Amino acid sequence: MNKRRLALGILLAVCLAAAGWGIFALIRGNDTNQQSANGTVAPTSAGAATEAPTPTAEAGTVAPTPGETDDPAQGSPTQAAAKTDRTKPAGTIPVTRVSNVSRATEGELAVTWLGHSSVLVQMGGISLLFDPVFSEKAGLLGVGPKRFSEVPMSAEDTPPIDILYLSHDHYDHLDYDTVMAIDDRVSCYVVPNGMEEILTGWGIASAKIHPMAPWEETVIAGIRIALTPAQHSGGRGLGKSTLCSGIFLSDGAHTLYYTGDSGYGAHFAQIGESFGPVDLLLVESGQYNESWATVHMMPEQSMQVALDVKAAWTIPIHWGTFVLAMHDWDEPPVRDTELAAKMGIQLATPRIGQRVNYTEIANYTEKWWETVK
Ligand SMILES: [Zn+2]
Ligand SMILES: [Zn+2]
Repeated sequence: MNKRRLALGILLAVCLAAAGWGIFALIRGNDTNQQSANGTVAPTSAGAATEAPTPTAEAGTVAPTPGETDDPAQGSPTQAAAKTDRTKPAGTIPVTRVSNVSRATEGELAVTWLGHSSVLVQMGGISLLFDPVFSEKAGLLGVGPKRFSEVPMSAEDTPPIDILYLSHDHYDHLDYDTVMAIDDRVSCYVVPNGMEEILTGWGIASAKIHPMAPWEETVIAGIRIALTPAQHSGGRGLGKSTLCSGIFLSDGAHTLYYTGDSGYGAHFAQIGESFGPVDLLLVESGQYNESWATVHMMPEQSMQVALDVKAAWTIPIHWGTFVLAMHDWDEPPVRDTELAAKMGIQLATPRIGQRVNYTEIANYTEKWWETVK
């Protein structure tokens, strides 16, 4: 009898662990589909050269097992075990509160990095918001990676948004609570094809949503907009894999390119050919690992994008907020600034919440992370 109870107890424990892991994987958006740069989605197959890593590197993902990568920055398994965990800072990240946002004048370009991939862009007299995540966690039902830097702008302080751009559906880019909290301030959503189904499912008016295909162009509120391809793997939980994209903007006075999440590929040179030179590049640089190189970029690749699109200025994003990879929290800006100096790239590294007027961007090169540790 006791043995039977013990066996039943073990079985129950195994089932609970499996169910727990299933929910965890679901929330973190595990997906093994690979999206190519031209926007087509193909299921992975064993041995395929373009197969996405399993598990994929996104909103969160499962950390690679030690020794899975030969990246010297990751150290050997023994070094990694002995090393202090610096995936989050020990100190507090300086964050500038964003409130009473004034409207940009025509001809002015200003960007405010709001942490991770959330960016407020003021251009051509209008306001655009990219991938806003103002929640404490990037996940569902309160489960997911917790932010380690403060939210700089609340929903209440969000100015009227003419265009809300959502690059893809991973939880660190598309946050239900944030979108629902600011929807009444948003005039128009620009999304890659397919994502409108998620938004209308949340009750957002379909008339406000403008789905686009990679390379498709349009003009909204006087701004030329092109959706750009991204090599990434979308998907939330058990939902189907969805398109991922970047966005190119021009108001006649300035051009801006936001990569979204992407592995490095020939599409960046094509984007450079079609839209370069770019005044300001907002490039994904953070939450990388050699094993995930098909869907995220290593710092060398992120900086290469600046050359590919002939960027006058570059701001690295996708760092400073959520731990989705095993590198030190400040490794992206450390490596990016070193590489940029060698490669002749003009890199700006504003603090989270600092409004950068493009005419003064050269003033935003402070290595503020060095004071945080
Ligand atoms: Zn992603
Ligand atoms: Zn991401």
